[in-house]
Amino acid sequence: MTKAVAVLGTGIMGAGMARSLIRAGLDVTVWNRTAEKARPLKHDGARVAEDLTSAVSGSDVVLTMLFDTDAVTTVMEQALPAVGRSALWVQTSTVGLDGTARLAQLADRHGVGFIDAPVLGTRKPAEDGALIVLAAGPHNLREAVAPVFDAIGSRVVWVGERAGDGHRLKLTANSWVLSVVGATAQAVSLAQTLRLDPQLFLDLISGGPLDCAYTQLKGKAMIAGEFPPAFPLGGAAKDSALIAEAMRAAGTEDRLMTALHQQFQAAADAGHDAEDMAAVIHAFRR
Ligand code: NAP
Repeated sequence: MTKAVAVLGTGIMGAGMARSLIRAGLDVTVWNRTAEKARPLKHDGARVAEDLTSAVSGSDVVLTMLFDTDAVTTVMEQALPAVGRSALWVQTSTVGLDGTARLAQLADRHGVGFIDAPVLGTRKPAEDGALIVLAAGPHNLREAVAPVFDAIGSRVVWVGERAGDGHRLKLTANSWVLSVVGATAQAVSLAQTLRLDPQLFLDLISGGPLDCAYTQLKGKAMIAGEFPPAFPLGGAAKDSALIAEAMRAAGTEDRLMTALHQQFQAAADAGHDAEDMAAVIHAFRR
C-alpha cells in the first residue's frame, strides 16, 4: 500500500502537488535544490528533507517535478542509490521523448520501476489536486501509483505501457496550448499596433465558435500587461523546443512550432523568462 511519497522539486507545480498529496492523507517528504522554497511546506504537514538521501529513503513513490531532463538526471543520479527496490519513480516533469527514454534507462540501471507521467494543468489545478495525468507504464505498477494520481489529478489517462507514451500525448496537447497562446499574442499585438482597443478582438470572438477560454484568460493578461507566472515563459520556450524536436524526429514539418519557439525564446531572452507565458507578447513588438 502506497503511503510514503517523496516529492523532489517544489516549484510552482511541485509545491501544489505536495499539498494535494498531504490533503489525501499520504506521508509526504519534500526536497528542493533551493531549500528555503521547500521549508514553508512544513506548515502544510510535509517532512522537509535537507538532502536527497534522507528525502527518498523509505519512500514507496518518488515523484520528480523539476525543470528539465538535465535537472531530473542530476537529482536522480544522486537519489536513486537510496531508493528502495520496491519503490516506484513517477516522473511528472516535462522532459520530451529523448529525455524520457534517458530517464527510463537510468531507472532501469538502478532496478527501480518507472512511470512516465507528465501532467496537464498549471498552478491552480496543481494546488487543487485537479491536474490531468497522462500516464504510461506497465500494468502491474498501476495499482501502486493510483493513490498518488488520485491525489494530484482529477483525471488519469493511461496512454500506454511504453515509457514515452504519456509524453507523446503531453507534447501533442502542449503544441495546442502554445499555439493558442502565440496566436492570441499575435492578434492582441496586431490590434494594438493598428491602434485599436485589443479588447474589441476578445469581445468580437466571445461566445462564438472561435472563442476559447484560454484566449480570453491570456488575452486579458496581455492587455493588462500583468504576467504573474502560472506557466513560466522559460518553460514554454523549453517545451516548444521539445515539441519541434519530436516533430522533426517523427517526420512532421516543424516550421510553425519552430517559429513559435523563436517567439517564446526571444521574450525569455529579453528578461521575461520567469513571467507567465502570456508575456510572449513582448516578442511581437518591434
Ligand atoms: P518552476 O516553478 O520553475 O520549478 C522548477 C523546479 O526545478 C524548481 O524546484 C527548481 O529548483 C528545479 N530545478 C531547476 N533546475 C534544477 C537543477 N539543475 N537541479 C535541481 N533542481 C532544479 O517550474 P514549474 O512550473 O513548477 O515546472 C516544473 C516542471 O513542470 C517543468 O518540467 C514544466 O515544464 C512542467 N509543467 C509546468 C506546468 C506549469 O503550468 N507551470 C504545467 C505542466 C507541466 P530551484 O527552486 O532550486 O530553482
